[in-house]
Amino acid sequence: MKIALVGIGKIALDQHVPALMDSPDWTLAATVSRSGRVPGVPGYGDIDAMLAAHPDVGAVSLCLPPVPRFAAAEAVLRAGRHLMLEKPPGATLSEVHALQAMARGVSLYATWHSRMAHEVAAARDWLAGRRVLGGHITWREDIRHWHPGQDWILEAGGMGVFDPGINALSILTAILPRPVHLMAAELDLPANRQAPIAARLTLSQGITADLDFRQAGPQSWDIDLRTDAGTLALRMGGNLLEIDGRPVEGRDSIMQEYPALYARMAALVRQGASEVDLAPMVLVADAFTLGRRNIVAPFDF
Ligand code: NAP
Repeated sequence: MKIALVGIGKIALDQHVPALMDSPDWTLAATVSRSGRVPGVPGYGDIDAMLAAHPDVGAVSLCLPPVPRFAAAEAVLRAGRHLMLEKPPGATLSEVHALQAMARGVSLYATWHSRMAHEVAAARDWLAGRRVLGGHITWREDIRHWHPGQDWILEAGGMGVFDPGINALSILTAILPRPVHLMAAELDLPANRQAPIAARLTLSQGITADLDFRQAGPQSWDIDLRTDAGTLALRMGGNLLEIDGRPVEGRDSIMQEYPALYARMAALVRQGASEVDLAPMVLVADAFTLGRRNIVAPFDF
């Protein structure tokens, strides 16, 4: 099946293009980007021009930041093509609901790449039937290393530290046996920015989260949970698993996440199905609704 990629930036070049080049299901047939190109693949500056020139492209994958994504998503669905969305699936929940209503007769896949990490399914299986008594998420990374110069992340709609933090919430909402909800939040807003650079969350089931974009030195992408029958820890963004403090499985690599997303997209298209789970984004929206704001030091890249 032929697919087009829109927004040839960091994640497109790091993950989507290599995943598509090796995919048994997909051929990368076109790209849309104002500046990015993939050698050997026809590139367009405008999505409508690409859709008109490539009626044979059945699916489009959007790697744009969330704010400019909706207009492109609408254009894809209006043209009757299948649509795959990077996380978070939109800038707002109502936007994604609108896309769901438009996606009639085509597949809509709101991806969560961290759910494809090696040990997420094993963690979900281990937790099934256990009662979660409490836990903690530590998601601390260096924005300057992972998002160099990406000012959009700290603008309105960029979600700030929730851009990586939503990955932790996507794992949490996939592995817990019972749904979780937000009870309190504290957001640290740099004086010169619109989105939080750090956040602390209190969730139901005794779970707390510490999200920080200013982590120099060792980076942390950990979820620790206590249950009525042992403890579980996911490290390295869901790729390593520990049960009762002992490593059991895993591979310290995220390179299988995007191939798995494209395999899932192919399966959805073949089944005529869609997959849109907004649970992680609901928690983020609730943190923006309920969270107390602290103004902190200005941040510049
Ligand atoms: P990025 O490199 O800053 O942006 C991706 C592309 O989007 C850019 O190359 C740019 O292409 C286009 N773009 C940016 N702003 C735009 C605007 N206002 N209007 C139209 N096009 C615009 O961002 P990224 O890191 O790849 O992230 C994109 C998405 O992937 C985000 O939702 C992010 O959460 C997700 N993601 C990122 C990572 C990561 O490690 N970076 C990991 C997983 C998921 P042109 O300027 O060439 O048009």
